[in-house]
Amino acid sequence: MTTLVQHQHVETQIVESYVAEVYELVKKRNPNESEFHQAVKEVFDSLVPVLVENPKYMEHGILERMVEPERVISFQIPWIDDQGTVRVNRGFRVQFNSAIGPYKGGLRFHPSVNASIVKFLGFEQIFKNSLTGQPIGGGKGGSDFDPKGKSDREIMRFTQSFMSELSKYIGPDVDVPAGDIGVGAREIGYMFGQYKKIRGAYEAGVLTGKGLNYGGSLGRKEATGYGTVYFVEEMLRDSGRGFKGSTVVVSGSGNVSIYAIEKAHQLGAKVVACSDSSGYIYDEQGINLETVKRLKEVEGKRISEYVEEHPNAQYHSGCSGIWSIPCDIALPCATQNEIDEIAAKLLVSNGVIAVGEGANMPSTLEAISIFHEKKVLFGPAKAVNAGGVAVSALEMAQNSMRLSWTLDEVDTKLQEIMKNIYTNSINAANEYNAPGNLVVGANIAGFKKVADAMIAQGVI
Ligand code: GLU
Repeated sequence: MTTLVQHQHVETQIVESYVAEVYELVKKRNPNESEFHQAVKEVFDSLVPVLVENPKYMEHGILERMVEPERVISFQIPWIDDQGTVRVNRGFRVQFNSAIGPYKGGLRFHPSVNASIVKFLGFEQIFKNSLTGQPIGGGKGGSDFDPKGKSDREIMRFTQSFMSELSKYIGPDVDVPAGDIGVGAREIGYMFGQYKKIRGAYEAGVLTGKGLNYGGSLGRKEATGYGTVYFVEEMLRDSGRGFKGSTVVVSGSGNVSIYAIEKAHQLGAKVVACSDSSGYIYDEQGINLETVKRLKEVEGKRISEYVEEHPNAQYHSGCSGIWSIPCDIALPCATQNEIDEIAAKLLVSNGVIAVGEGANMPSTLEAISIFHEKKVLFGPAKAVNAGGVAVSALEMAQNSMRLSWTLDEVDTKLQEIMKNIYTNSINAANEYNAPGNLVVGANIAGFKKVADAMIAQGVI
């Protein structure tokens, strides 16, 4: 904790060296966690002017406290595969910050999951959740389990084993997990069942993204993708443009991508490409979403199969090539760091006007600099994709009240929330001398609410 308390305003240089010092501490204390470092750096770079104006945040050690999770749980997940072989995976839950509500954030099942990935996601979630205006803290979890190629029974046994341990640490007022990559309605269903059995009580609000017949919210499935498009539409409105008549590239073909494509099409855009972890498809006439939905949501097939039914479309193996397709709007909805410097330069030279991050941290810091430098409208993940967790919070509210809202009610609230996130972020950017910079704006707007709540609650 610093002793700068006496000064109303402190010099920028002092703040910069303080922020650099805390960042060095993060690197030292969390070695080999490059994704976590990257997420912290992006936020810290935005906060200098806020700390200059409000030295109280330094006095109360807010930065030091925010980068240290309140609790990190790592556990063993033993399960038996269909051949009868015992398998062991590693599970995580990072309970990062509970200043404004119970920990809230998804679970990711993917072989790349490790402490760095879960911490970067949990750290981002603090600010994202704050931006939604809903009373939710930041958390994240998952496992290095690879759902690809697993049978339904294997998925059930694994998720039950995962929940047997996780159930000790969660609850409707404690920590409320949901889905992320590799975790959808099926996994949430099995986890909810196991939690209910262990607790011997029907605590509907312990998980979100549930099925509609047992406490799920209408509109939750679509929320991240729709919210992404609502945000980008808002961002484009200021420059007199919109999705109508635009050519769009959406990476990924999971839950976020599918509903981003659906909403972009509804608003009159043509989405010409999407991808999975093996490659991408390009359909000049516009992607047939029904085919993608069937392949991905029902049959669990690879995106390459799309060209069997649509011979005019092309399939290319490898994912990065998708960013060489000329488009007006790019929506990276696949995974972290999918747009690097080279991809960003390609997008810019092909005339992209807006980039909206549907995935978490899909652009590297270098890529973001290029977008800013070239005046591309850039919407950062914690603002753009906040619609998913926002509707999760609406699901929690409905569970508490034991009632359910109509799809129209939920969608209207989602649109309002996305509009507010945009307005609050743009206003914060303007207030702190970074006009139009939504990275700075979203970080500051998200940070202040959490930081003020932490101060109000004391050093605990
Ligand atoms: N995994 C999503 C996210 O990154 C949703 C989390 C939630 O609904 O709790 O925000």
